[in-house]
Amino acid sequence: MQENIDRVLIDRHTIAARVGEMAEQIAADFSKVEGGLDPVHITIVPILTGSLIFLADLIRRLPLMMQIRLVTVSSYPGKATTSQGIELKGQLPEDLTGHHVLIVDDILDSGRTIQYVTDLIAKRGCASVRSCMLLRKRIASAMNTHADYIGFDIPDEFVVGYGLDYDGFYRNLPEVVVLKKEVFA
Ligand code: 5GP
Ligand code: MG
Repeated sequence: MQENIDRVLIDRHTIAARVGEMAEQIAADFSKVEGGLDPVHITIVPILTGSLIFLADLIRRLPLMMQIRLVTVSSYPGKATTSQGIELKGQLPEDLTGHHVLIVDDILDSGRTIQYVTDLIAKRGCASVRSCMLLRKRIASAMNTHADYIGFDIPDEFVVGYGLDYDGFYRNLPEVVVLKKEVFA
């Protein structure tokens, strides 16, 4: 696995520090929300599978009452490195009436995934919906898509690690990396 890495884009210490900052910001913002369910708690909606590692690190730094409702979406099946259209897998959370929702995803690219999931979630009666992404590509489609919290802006390259995959592999790499060109050949 290590031999396929071209270079490390974001190392584990930088990720950890930034996730801590994001958690502080999110905790401060959500501690001010009013209305919805009493007592106020938040509902985390992670978009699987790419958000898994980020999610685990982020929520352990959020000292808030929370529940988790999983959503699974596929847009880069198998060896695709460009979006092939979004497909929802399985069920959406049933009823979110009065919930303050935080959608968590790994990376903002075309913006279609977050737009699609936000629209579906917003129709379920939430008190509020916000979104949080670890990464955002420095391209127009991503920069022009609304997201409330962004970890890092990165160049327009296909990255893996820290939850992000290529053909299902590399999610367990602790850093965000770029793979060697030969890997895609
Ligand atoms: P969007 O819908 O914004 O185009 O893409 C979001 C989804 O596409 C992400 O949740 C992720 O699963 C996948 N994706 C986009 N860019 C990359 C990338 O550079 N690497 C990997 N591994 N997945 C990506
Ligand atoms: Mg994803």
